[in-house]
Amino acid sequence: MLTLLKDVECFSPEYRGIKDILIVKDIIYKILEPNSSASKNEMVKTINCSGLTAVPGIIDGHVHITGGGGEEGFVSRIKEIDIEDILLSGITTVVGLLGADSQTRSLKDLLAKAKALETQGISTFIYSGSYAIPIINFTEDITSDLVLIDKVIGAGEVAISDHRSSNPCLKDMLELSSKAHLGGLISGKAGLVHIHVGDGKTGLDLMNRLLNESDLPIEQFLPTHVNRNRELFEQAKFFAENGGYIDLTAGEKAGIAVPEALQDLIQNGIDLSHVTISSDANGSIPGGGAGRIQTLFDDLIQCIQKYNINPELVFSLVTKNISKRLKQYPQKGVLSEGSDADILLMDKSFHINKLFCMGKLMVDNGQILNNKWR
Ligand code: ZN
Repeated sequence: MLTLLKDVECFSPEYRGIKDILIVKDIIYKILEPNSSASKNEMVKTINCSGLTAVPGIIDGHVHITGGGGEEGFVSRIKEIDIEDILLSGITTVVGLLGADSQTRSLKDLLAKAKALETQGISTFIYSGSYAIPIINFTEDITSDLVLIDKVIGAGEVAISDHRSSNPCLKDMLELSSKAHLGGLISGKAGLVHIHVGDGKTGLDLMNRLLNESDLPIEQFLPTHVNRNRELFEQAKFFAENGGYIDLTAGEKAGIAVPEALQDLIQNGIDLSHVTISSDANGSIPGGGAGRIQTLFDDLIQCIQKYNINPELVFSLVTKNISKRLKQYPQKGVLSEGSDADILLMDKSFHINKLFCMGKLMVDNGQILNNKWR
């Protein structure tokens, strides 16, 4: 199937101007100047996209796809995520993970749900482990999980500075990170260690010690929820200034909301290529309720519309930046020739109009198209 997106304003996420995007099967085959001869080819299905803006499909690096464990007993267990909610949030790739509960939730279930979501159209990866260290694995350890299980791209979300964590010490973290690093090297994957940072007293102290006292690469670590309180956020800024990577959580109410946090990072001259945003969707929120995946898109649009932050910059956090952290760049997170055809199209008011996942049109005119598996 050959599809031409004609006259579309392109953010790759860098601004590229008006272009024609030619999709062949599941990849972006060519990005052409507008009015290219491709539209005259009768083999090509042309979609007029004038007035629409294209960005790479959003990558959400932190989603409790099987539902987070409730924190108020069994009745508060959060449900699995629905494909509809993912697609209507402009998201084409998710990374699934377990949280506090590795008793009633399992890695097998996580893997099965990731595979189901893939059949429903999106791309998926997962983390081995949960909050606690030593982590739970599919095989004997995280090294062989990375080597043997295709979808595993790292360990997470392991918790620090949180009363719900296993209170890991430096040695625990070093052992886990070394194994993930080796697994990443052998398998050619990210071998990322994704770290849940809670509201505890120690914040990122353990992370700083880990980096000071080991030879592990700083790119291997991605602490998240760093905008949950002011003190942690200040620590995270320092961490990023010193070469670390940080992940903000969308929909934050108690701490610093993403648009405000992003503005603060810009004003303080933090290198935004070190920053990503994820939703923490279907995770349980202390005190009740669940994280919603829509908050990620809502926060991005608020950054642009209310805080006047450049769309190129805003979308790079959830496309190019996270793709690099996951070692999926340039296959994902960019509109370029040869990349996966994961493309989000929005109108001038930043309403989602179309969504292509691996070259397949999944959302059109803001509505999900019929899909046998949904
Ligand atoms: Zn978390």
